[in-house]
This record gives sequence, C-alpha cells and structure tokens, in this order.
Amino acid sequence: QYILGIETSCDETAAAVIKNGKEIVSNVVASQIDTHKRFGGVVPEIASRHHVEQITMVIEEAMNNAGIEFSRLSGVAVTAGPGLVGALLIGVEAAKSIAFAHSLPLIPVHHIAGHIYANRLVTELQFPLLSLVVSGGHTELIYMKEHGHFEVIGETRDDAAGEAYDKVARVLHCPYPGGPHIDRMASEGEATINLPRAWLEEGSYDFSFSGLKSAVINTVHNAKQRGETIKPENLAASFQESVVEVLVEKTIRAAKEYNVKQILLAGGVAANNGLRTALRKAVAELENIELIIPPLKLCTDNAAMIAAAGSVFYEKGIRADLTLNANPGLDLESFNSKLIN
Ligand code: ATP
Ligand code: MG
Ligand code: FE
Repeated sequence: QYILGIETSCDETAAAVIKNGKEIVSNVVASQIDTHKRFGGVVPEIASRHHVEQITMVIEEAMNNAGIEFSRLSGVAVTAGPGLVGALLIGVEAAKSIAFAHSLPLIPVHHIAGHIYANRLVTELQFPLLSLVVSGGHTELIYMKEHGHFEVIGETRDDAAGEAYDKVARVLHCPYPGGPHIDRMASEGEATINLPRAWLEEGSYDFSFSGLKSAVINTVHNAKQRGETIKPENLAASFQESVVEVLVEKTIRAAKEYNVKQILLAGGVAANNGLRTALRKAVAELENIELIIPPLKLCTDNAAMIAAAGSVFYEKGIRADLTLNANPGLDLESFNSKLIN
C-alpha cells in the first residue's frame, strides 16, 4: 500500500510517499522560513503564494524520489485543517485534483493527528497511549485507546509552547522561528533566574504559558531599568526549565493515571533537546511504559506524518469526496468521531 501525503497548513510545502503506513519512501519539504524571517513570523498571504509556486514541484519530486506512478498509489492523504485557510486550500485543491485525475481515494487528515502519527514511522503504536503534542499552535495531552480515537485530556489555556518559545526568542533578539535558538542558548547557560511554573488547579492537565512569557519580559525590562545585565543564555535556560518541568510532570502523571503502554512526543517543540532529555529521564524511572520520540525531521511540519496518519485512516475506510474544503478551525475530537464512528 502506497499513500501520497500532502501538507500545506502553515509555512512548509510538503509531499511524501509512505509504504504500508510505516516506511518512508520519499519525503520532500520546501520550507519558507527564509522568506518569513524578515517579518518575524509567518505572513499568511505570502505563505499561500509560496505554496502555489511550490506545490506542483514538491509533489513531482516526492513521486520521482519514490520511483512510482500515480496509478500505484492506494490513496492521497491531505491536511484538511487546522491551519491558515489560504495555505490549507492549496494542498486540499492539489490533493483533490490528483485524486480526481487518477481515480484515487481522497483521505482527509487532521494536522495534529499527523504530528502524532509521525511516531508510527518510528515504531508500532501500542494502545492505550498518551501523546504530548507541543507545537507552534497546540499544547495538548491526548489519550488514544485505539487508532483514530483522540481524547484531549489537557490543553493550553493561552499560548502554545512553541508560541511562547517564539515570543521569548523575540525578546532575546533571536530570528524567527526562535525555538531552536532558545534551545541552543539554554544549553549554553544555567537556570539561575527564578521564573514561575503554571501548575494550575490540583489535578488539572491543562497548561498556561502566557504568565511565564510575561515574567521573562518583566525580567528583561527590570534589569534594563536597573542598569543590570542578564546573561541571555541564563534567561533561556531558566525559561526552558520552567516549560519542560511542567510539561514532563503533567505527562508522567497522566501516563500513570491512564495506565498507558506508550508515551508519544509530537509537534515542532518535540525537537527541543531539554524536553527530549528530561522526558527520557522521567520515563526511564517508570516500569512498562515505552517512550517514542520522532527524529527531528519528523517533529516539525512534514508530509510523511500526514501520509502515516492517512494510511491508518485509509484502512479504516475514511474517505472525503471532491467537496472537501479546508477548515482552519478543524477540531480533532469531533473530526475523528464523525469519520470513525
Ligand atoms: P501546529 O502544528 O500547532 O499547527 P505549526 O505547524 O506552526 O503549529 P510546528 O511546525 O509543528 O508548528 O512547530 C513549529 C514550532 O516548533 C515553532 O514554534 C518553533 O519555534 C518550535 N520549535 C522547533 N524546534 C524547536 C526546539 N528545538 N525547541 C523549541 N521549540 C522548537
Ligand atoms: Mg512550520
Ligand atoms: Fe505543525
């Protein structure tokens, strides 16, 4: 079974071919980071224009690298949402065109389901499992009792983890996207500055990062007023320690309460070294829980993960027709329950 995956939800134009749901045959990502860098963030209109320019070549390259004809495909999987509407549309229309022209099944995929299923390209999933999704727009703890079943047991009440990283990076004058820069700086500094941890109410699996972000901004501001200098590496290390401590603590607590077999790390912030190390250490102390962490390339946006999720949904008989539309606010739980039950 070969599935072609297409992803254009934000600033990556991506296409990939996956064999039997687990094997990457080709994986092409055209990033627009250099274009958006000078604006300090993604500009939606520019993102759409780039997707239009890139999409045909990216798909062609993915098919060429895979060395197969369209007729060999079992289906075309595409990110239907959430994301930037104008960006999503380009991928959805491309997937529909290919499905129509080659009489192939069209499989709609939720972007976050894709991030989670990046882990199936690493090893077979075992249920029940818990996934910590940390990306540019999401911070969620998702419980899965089987393929295609997603239950959000905790989520951020304000900023996403990646968003907090990018905002703090801006304060420290790092280029966009700031996450990787803060990660590197943190490894060169020490967590000497006292910053808050947002535990929220007892037992809550929700997250909050806006207070922490404000605390970082205030620290910089106050130091400036007093004429003191703070080592930016130390501030980065202190910020990262606060984020990682809360993420890891809540993940471990949920994994125990829900008695899961696996913990999956997913989303762009899953590339974070501090988080990967801390989570590995914490899970090593548990018995009978396996931790899966995708390689860096599969953490940030790519189409291999969309094809991996699409492959499972294909087996479950999930199909969209040519009326499929991009949905920027697509909800994970209701999307899948509608499709699967
Ligand atoms: P979503 O998946 O929620 O729709 P998105 O697709 O924009 O959002 P991703 O591409 O999954 O987000 O992740 C991008 C985010 O990951 C950015 O905020 C970026 O700063 C962050 N990120 C990438 N690498 C690292 C790292 N090493 N440390 C921390 N953050 C990182
Ligand atoms: Mg991106
Ligand atoms: Fe993403």
